[in-house]
Amino acid sequence: PSRRRHRATTRSSAGADAEEPAEADDLLACLREAVVLNAFSVVFQPILDAKSRDIIGAEALLRWTSTTHKANRPADFVPVLEASGLIKRVGAQVLEEACRAMRDLLSRDGPVRLSVNISPKQFIDPGLADLVESILCDNAFAPDRLEIEITENAIEDFTQARATILALKALGVRVVIDDFGVGYSSLGHLKKLPVSGLKLDRSFVVGALKNRHDRLITESIIRLAHDLKLEIVAEGIEDIAHERWLCARGVDRLQGFLYSEGVSASAFAEMLSVQPFARNVARRQKSAAP
Ligand code: C2E
Ligand code: MG
Ligand code: MG
Ligand code: MG
Repeated sequence: PSRRRHRATTRSSAGADAEEPAEADDLLACLREAVVLNAFSVVFQPILDAKSRDIIGAEALLRWTSTTHKANRPADFVPVLEASGLIKRVGAQVLEEACRAMRDLLSRDGPVRLSVNISPKQFIDPGLADLVESILCDNAFAPDRLEIEITENAIEDFTQARATILALKALGVRVVIDDFGVGYSSLGHLKKLPVSGLKLDRSFVVGALKNRHDRLITESIIRLAHDLKLEIVAEGIEDIAHERWLCARGVDRLQGFLYSEGVSASAFAEMLSVQPFARNVARRQKSAAP
């Protein structure tokens, strides 16, 4: 359902949809202002290693600190940034800010990684690898600590996408496919794109315990990922039953509200200091239980 909403927002912002053009124009105007005022921030959602249950990384997630606009969730405004081209500037700011905030944290001991979402518009820009390289360099951020998340169903030019992934890999940066499984011909894409991992879409995590169809698809995605030597992350884990089911099937990394939502860099630093993280979560949940 959120995907359908993305498209509707994108269309109306381009003026092609008569449904809510005024509202979309207003949103775009507010976003333009937000870019100028730098009213965006970044939060960090922990990613855990499935075996040790330690935090081994964080996904940077964009937040718009708008108090006036109600469409302030990324699902509502990222498509508008994307359609207007503003995403290039905001996306570079996210990468810059995330690298700056995580540099000191991640340079301590332990294999901690930063994951950053890159939109299709940024991804098709032939200058992306150069931009990433200069941001890494300016912020003294080690390339092998960075992971770029792309969504495969937006890729049209596979030759270009492949070249960009190879250029990022040459820097030492990993590239993974986000929301895997919801796009079409996903399996075919895997053959063409030299990525390092997959993020299983949240809908499969939820569906796997609910219906047989999703369960079978999810199991085969996990098996396929492992056969292709790709690391697999499950996102959207909200309860312990999801975790158990996914861990039993060999998922490599875990992410979801069960552990934490996106938090400030300082709150993330605090979480890193109470490793192993998941055991503390379990303890907290036990003590919170009625
Ligand atoms: P995504 O990259 O798939 O990010 C995961 C989304 O799932 C995040 O939503 C996160 O808060 C949410 N999530 C994580 N665990 C759970 C859970 O257990 N349950 C539920 N219900 N949700 C969970 P968020 O932050 O609202 O972002 C939504 C989407 O917006 C992202 O999906 C990504 O596609 C896009 N986005 C966010 N930040 C950026 C950015 O900096 N650049 C670009 N281009 N896109 C971004
Ligand atoms: Mg993502
Ligand atoms: Mg995702
Ligand atoms: Mg996404």
